[in-house]
Amino acid sequence: PELEFHIPTDDVHERVTLFADVILPLPLPKLYTYRVPYQMSEEVMVGARVLVQFGSKKVLSCVVARVHETPPKDYQAKYLLEVIDEKPVVTEPQLKLFQWMAEYYMCTLGEVINAALPSALKLSSESQIQLHPQFNDETNEWPLTAHEENIIFALRQKQSLTFTEVGQLLQLTSFHKIIKSLLLKDVIIIYEEIAEKYAPKVVKKVRLTSAYTTSEETLEELFNQLASKPKQLDVLLKYVQLSPILQNLRTNEEGIEKNLLTSNPHLSLSAINTLLKHGIMEQFDVVVSRFPMAEGRGPYLSSDLSPAQAAARDAVLETFGEKDTVLLHGITGSGKTEIYMDLIQKAVEAGGQVLYLLPEIALTTQIVTRLKRVFGDRLGVYHSKFSDNERVEVWNGILSGRFQVVVGVRSSVFLPFHSLSLLIVDEEHEPSYKQHDPAPRYNAREVALMMAHFHQAKTLLGSATPSVETYYHCQSGKWGLVNLLERYGEATLPLVELVDVRQEGLRKNMLSHFSQKLVHAIEDTLHRHEQVILFQNRRGYAPFIDCNDCAWIPKCRNCAVSLSYHKFSNELRCHYCGYTERKPNDCPACGSTMLKTVGFGTEKIEDELKLILPQSRIQRMDLDTTKRKNSHQQIIEDFEMQRTDILVGTQMVTKGLDFEHVSLVGILSADSIIHFPDFRAHERAFQLFVQVSGRAGRKGKNGKVLIQTANPNQPIFQRVIDNDYQGLYQQEIAERQKFRYPPFVRMIRMTIKHPEARPCEQAAILLAKDLNDRLGRGGVLGPEAPHIFKIRNQFLQEIHVKLDRESGHLKHSKNQILEAVQALLQNKEFKQLRVVIDVDPS
Ligand code: ADP
Ligand code: ZN
Ligand code: ZN
Repeated sequence: PELEFHIPTDDVHERVTLFADVILPLPLPKLYTYRVPYQMSEEVMVGARVLVQFGSKKVLSCVVARVHETPPKDYQAKYLLEVIDEKPVVTEPQLKLFQWMAEYYMCTLGEVINAALPSALKLSSESQIQLHPQFNDETNEWPLTAHEENIIFALRQKQSLTFTEVGQLLQLTSFHKIIKSLLLKDVIIIYEEIAEKYAPKVVKKVRLTSAYTTSEETLEELFNQLASKPKQLDVLLKYVQLSPILQNLRTNEEGIEKNLLTSNPHLSLSAINTLLKHGIMEQFDVVVSRFPMAEGRGPYLSSDLSPAQAAARDAVLETFGEKDTVLLHGITGSGKTEIYMDLIQKAVEAGGQVLYLLPEIALTTQIVTRLKRVFGDRLGVYHSKFSDNERVEVWNGILSGRFQVVVGVRSSVFLPFHSLSLLIVDEEHEPSYKQHDPAPRYNAREVALMMAHFHQAKTLLGSATPSVETYYHCQSGKWGLVNLLERYGEATLPLVELVDVRQEGLRKNMLSHFSQKLVHAIEDTLHRHEQVILFQNRRGYAPFIDCNDCAWIPKCRNCAVSLSYHKFSNELRCHYCGYTERKPNDCPACGSTMLKTVGFGTEKIEDELKLILPQSRIQRMDLDTTKRKNSHQQIIEDFEMQRTDILVGTQMVTKGLDFEHVSLVGILSADSIIHFPDFRAHERAFQLFVQVSGRAGRKGKNGKVLIQTANPNQPIFQRVIDNDYQGLYQQEIAERQKFRYPPFVRMIRMTIKHPEARPCEQAAILLAKDLNDRLGRGGVLGPEAPHIFKIRNQFLQEIHVKLDRESGHLKHSKNQILEAVQALLQNKEFKQLRVVIDVDPS
C-alpha cells in the first residue's frame, strides 16, 4: 500500500523537463532560459513565439532560439506562459543570421530581433483580459470551473486583469488552457492580443445557396417563385448578371462581393436581407491579399537579351561555378536589370527563393513594375512605407512559399526565407544600404553576403560605380568579376560638360543659381519634347539665412547646426532633430530687416525655375515631397508619362531610375559635394556624378550632362567626363593602403554622448586611453569632436579604431572594446553617458 496511484513507466520516461532559450526584444546581452510546462512540450519549437514573464511586471513575446534539457546555472527558470505560434515565424537560417549580426555589429540579439520583426509580430505590453460585455452569469449555459469562477470574481472587482495577475491569482504558471476555455465560452475577451494585431483583410461575399444551383431547372424555379416579389427579383437579376453563373452553374460558388449589391442605389437593402434570411442567398467571408493582384506574362525570354548581355549573363553563371559572390560591373544603361531578371527566372524555375535588394524606395516603383510583368503574384515587395499589416502579409507569404521573389530595401534582409538560392544587391555601392540608427547598425550588402553563406546561395552585386572595397575583393580574386561596358541598344553614354560658373556667370539680374548655358540647354531640351533632371544635394530653400547688418545666423536649440529655411512653410527647420520655428521678419539680434538667404536647396531651384521658364511643368522629389505613402510613386509616374518636364531632386533622383525621354541632366553645384571630410569623399563624389549623369540618354537619345562648378580644374571631373572608373579605383586603393583605411583595415567608431560638453570630453579621453592600453597604440584615433558636435542636446565625441582584418584577432579586439565601453559606462562620474558603437561606419 505504499503506492497511492499507478504511474505508467513509459510516461515517466517521457517527462523530461525542457527548457527554452528565448530572445527577448530588449537590449540584453544574453538569452534567457525558461522552463517549458509539460503540457506545452509538444508545442514549443525553435522559431516560434512564446509569452514569458520578465521581471515582476512585464509579459513579453519573444522568439525561441533553442530548446534543450539543461536548466540555467545561476537562476531559477520561470515557466513559459504560453506558446503563441503553431509554426515557427522565424526560420533557422534567420536565427543564425541574427546571431551573426549581433556579434559582428556588436549589439544584442534582442536589438536585432526588434528591428527584424514587424511590430504586429511583437508584443511588448501586457495582454489583458476583460469580461465580455455580453456575458451574463444567469443565462450562461456553460458550467464554469472553480478556477474560472475565481477569474470572473476578480474581474468584477478590477475591470481587467493582466496575464501576470491571472497567474498570481490562480497560483498556476500555466493557465492558458483556462483562458482559452473562457474565451471559447464568450466569458472574457483579450485585448492587445497578438492575433488581433495582424488582421487579415476580409471581403464579404454573397452567392445563391446550393439548392438553387443544382440544375438550370432549379434556378428557373427560383425565378418563378420570386415573380411576385419584384424587389427580390431585381436583386436576383443583378446577381445573375454580375456572376458568371449563367455560363456555368458551378461558378456560383465564387459568389460576388456583397457591396456590389448593397451599394447599388437601385436595389432594396431589405430585399437583399430577405433573400439572405430565407436562405435563398448566403453570405460568406473571403480572406484577400492587401496587394493588388497581377498576372505575370509568364516566362522571361532569354532571347530578349542582347548578345553582350547574354554573354555577361553566361559569364555570371559560369563564375558562380567557382565563386559564391560575383560583381556585375555594368555601366549605366547597360541593362543590368534585364540580366537580373533572366537570372531570377532561372533560380525560381529551379525552385529557389530570390531576394533582390535595392537602395531606395523610389527605385522599387520602377523595378517592381518591370518584375511584375514576369513574376506576377509570386513577387513580394517590402519597404518601410508599408503598413504593419502589409508587412506581416509579406512575412507570412515568404514563410508559406507564396512569394518566391522579393524586392525590397535594406530591411528585407530580415525576412524569413527558407530556401534562398540567389541574392542580388543592385547599386551595391550605395551608402543607403547602411543603417545608422538604431542598432543593429548594419550594411545590407554585408548582411546579404552572410545570408547567402547560411543558405548556400549565390550573391550577385551590381553597379556602374562599384565601391572600392568590392572592387578590391574582385581584384584580389576573392570574388568574381563580370564586365558589361556598353549601353543597351543604340544608346551611348552621355556627353559630360563642365560649366565654370565664375567665367560663365550666373544669371545676374535675378541672383540666380542657373548659368546661361544650363538655361539654354534646358530650353532646347524642352523644345524637342524631351525631359530634364536637375540635381541639388540639399533640400529646403536655403541652408541658412543670415543678417546683413550683424551677421546673426539662426541656430538649432538642440543641435550645433544652423537652421535651414523652408520657404513654402515659411519655417526654419533643423535637418538633424526636426526642430522648427517660424522665420522671423526682423533680426532678433539687431532688429535689422535685412535677413537674406545663403546658399540654395531644391525648393529654391524649383522656385527660380518657375520664374525662368514659366511654361514648363516642374516636379520636385526630395524628403519633403515624398512623405506620403505613394507620393514618390506618383512623381515618378508623372515624369515617366511626360506629364511633367523637369524633375528637380536630391540624391533620390540619382539612383538607378530609368526614364526614356530624359536627355539632359544638370548638376547645379558640384563643389558642395566634393568637399566632404571623409576618406570616402572622392569615391562618393565620383559615384554620385556618374550615377546622376547616367540618367541621361538611356534610350538612344543623345544625352548631355552639365556640371556647374567654380573649380573646374579638380581632377575628379576629368574622371567623370571620361567615365574612368579604373583611374579612380587605382588612385583610391593606393591611398587607402598608404593611410590604412578599409579594405585594408576594419574600422569601428565609438560615439560618446553626454548632455554636457566637459564630461563628454573627459569620458572620451578616458575611453581612448583604455582602448590604447588594450589594443596597442596606433590603432586608436581620437577622441575628436565631430564637425557637428551636438545633436539632440547631446554633445558628441568620436573615437575611431582601426583593426587588422584577421578574424581571430578581430573577435578578441571586439571583446576588448566591449569591455572598455562597459567599464566606462559603469564609471559613476558619467551618469548620463551613452556610447554608440558602429562597425564599418560610413
Ligand atoms: P542599368 O540598370 O544597367 O542602368 P537598365 O536595366 O535599367 O540598365 O536598362 C536600361 C534601359 O534599357 C531600360 O529601359 C531597359 O528596359 C532597356 N533594356 C535593356 N536591356 C534590354 C533588352 N535586352 N531588351 C529590351 N530593353 C532593354
Ligand atoms: Zn542682425
Ligand atoms: Zn536640431
